[in-house]
Amino acid sequence: MMNNPGLNCPKCGQKIAISIEQLISKSEIICPACGLQLNVDGEKSANALGALKTFNEKLKSAKQ
Ligand SMILES: [Zn+2]
Repeated sequence: MMNNPGLNCPKCGQKIAISIEQLISKSEIICPACGLQLNVDGEKSANALGALKTFNEKLKSAKQ
């Protein structure tokens, strides 16, 4: 079972599908559901980013 990488909007809970590459290259993410703007380098997104990195590592190991 595999989920698409992404993070949940802290405001509306909508899953925002975004790749690690997008997260790194973009300075902000906009929720498609409520329009909330997330700053990638903010403290609140650090946990989500960490979770994404963990997910990406699991994905890599799963592909081996
Ligand atoms: Zn939202």
